[in-house]
Amino acid sequence: MNNCIYLDNNATTKIDEDVLATMLPYLSTYYGNPSSMHTFGGQVGRAIRHARNQVASLLGALDSEIVFTSCGTEGDNAAILAALKAKPTKKHIITTEVEHPAILNLCRKLEREGYSVTYLSVNGKGQIDPDELQASLTGNTAVVSVMYANNETGVIFPIEQIGQMVKEYDALFHVDAVQAVGKIPLDMTNSTIDLLTLSGHKIHAPKGIGALYVRKGVRFRPFVIGGHQERGRRGGTGNVAGIVALGKAAELAQVHLKGIYEEKRLRDKLEKAILSNIPNTVVNGDVNNRLPNTTNIGFKYIEGEAILLSLDQFDICASSGSACTSGSLEPSHVLRALGLPYSVLHGSIRFSLSRFTTEAEIDRVLEVLPGIIDRLRELSPFSSDDADWLKEQEEAVLAR
Ligand code: PLP
Repeated sequence: MNNCIYLDNNATTKIDEDVLATMLPYLSTYYGNPSSMHTFGGQVGRAIRHARNQVASLLGALDSEIVFTSCGTEGDNAAILAALKAKPTKKHIITTEVEHPAILNLCRKLEREGYSVTYLSVNGKGQIDPDELQASLTGNTAVVSVMYANNETGVIFPIEQIGQMVKEYDALFHVDAVQAVGKIPLDMTNSTIDLLTLSGHKIHAPKGIGALYVRKGVRFRPFVIGGHQERGRRGGTGNVAGIVALGKAAELAQVHLKGIYEEKRLRDKLEKAILSNIPNTVVNGDVNNRLPNTTNIGFKYIEGEAILLSLDQFDICASSGSACTSGSLEPSHVLRALGLPYSVLHGSIRFSLSRFTTEAEIDRVLEVLPGIIDRLRELSPFSSDDADWLKEQEEAVLAR
């Protein structure tokens, strides 16, 4: 399995070997508690300070603005709940229909608790309409939470334009940058962002570590209540090895950003060859505002899961974005929000690359994929001849 062609890097990434080597001593030799007074614990505290500086430097932030968390989900939850506490009289939240469940499910819970939530829609390219945001902002808006880049389509939102609008209403601005960090340059120096979430396992650090940027001056109440760790902003003895790993991963991400065009070149090669060699294929999302590593392609008239299973037989890992719930395969909420036709919704596959993706791997995918699609289309009960059936389904989907 270790020789698989891994094109599912938006789901999680391989730990970089340098990251692993940096963290391992903190699982064995340096096991002291960073809060201890003795020298043994003190050297662990120093390693955490260094990691904080590495993460801050990737974001153009101050060291004191970085709070280590356990994952992106915790960061997202902590940010929204802290923002609501910082604006106790305001009861309105704005987010988008295409956020990660870490935001969407929290917002649904908050609705049940009496908050009102506006879920901004997206157009067919997965972009929000700034006018809809403008019309939704009120004096009662406590926080606007918008992702930097979408995990399924890679579409990048106009973050600073959104932030300017948010600032007019004395609301806090949270950005889920879990997918953007390490793939596009970020700089908090002159940014409108108040709170920003990132996650280690998306940038070649291990799972179970993340960070939240909290702009200096923003009132922040902890989500995990306990000791005085993280300057009282997150209780609990930190995941030291994870923190050290995240620091190293952030340092390497900064270096890698300079060579990100190579990842983009391979993504573009894959995408262009698929579109020109396989009929009835379409790229989902705003192709001009996208992460350099992601492509989401709709293969019309076949099920995405069938494509994934066939790719798996060639040791190729990709993703469909569908969640198998109660035996039925529902297309993802993200692709549904784009209002894609039924034929595209069900046959969409996400390929997400990393700095470890090679040209030979892309060539191998391009070698086997046309055959897979041909075979599945021959087996498929749906084809372009089923126009009536498809039209009916499309209408049913759009009416939902
Ligand atoms: N936000 C986005 C956009 C994500 O893609 C993910 C993970 O896929 C998360 C949040 C959650 O991150 P974690 O898996 O670290 O909890």
